[in-house]
Amino acid sequence: MLSIHIPASTLQLPGEVSHKEIWSTIAQYNLHTYRQLAPQVINAALETERDALLNRERYARRELSDTQPVAAHCHRCSSCFRKDFPRDGHYSRNLLSLGGALTLRVPEVECSCGGYVSVNYRALEKWSRLGGDIGERVRQRISQGASLREIEEELEEHLQTDIGQKTLNDEVMALEKGACALDTTKLEECPPVVVVDGIWATWMVETGRTKQDKGFAP
Ligand SMILES: [Zn+2]
Repeated sequence: MLSIHIPASTLQLPGEVSHKEIWSTIAQYNLHTYRQLAPQVINAALETERDALLNRERYARRELSDTQPVAAHCHRCSSCFRKDFPRDGHYSRNLLSLGGALTLRVPEVECSCGGYVSVNYRALEKWSRLGGDIGERVRQRISQGASLREIEEELEEHLQTDIGQKTLNDEVMALEKGACALDTTKLEECPPVVVVDGIWATWMVETGRTKQDKGFAP
């Protein structure tokens, strides 16, 4: 469980929280709380992911007998063992969201050989400088038939900053990739399917006229 303490409350999220879950949680808050909360939520989610990857909390020593490989590797010696990976502070990253610009503290991992270890955090989309809420807005407007130019103008008006069609185009290309994956991926299990058939009925209105029913035999 991921607990985030903010003034007057504590936000709790499941430990293995996805990018989508984080942004749908943040989206529930008003703008003032959003600006305060969004970086805290994302930073805490990133920190939780780093703890899970290294299988140890802050200040805990590395277990050198631990031979478990992880989903990250050193760019110098290619090690993928967490016993080789100490923590390496944070770097600052800016993300544009519907609530404005957010500054995040992204946890870093190094290798004991001195090499750089890249970690793909679920809480962040790797190369995007747009937050998940903007991605969701772009998806929604594309499905409504809006052009890239229209979306760019709307977002720039809302955010009072330049976004650029290239950034938006990258977001749309990522969408297309997701849609292709849906076309080619086999469903693990069939979802429940409900078929609704039409029921025809005759609506009778008083007109003063009479007509004998075909099936009527006096
Ligand atoms: Zn290394």
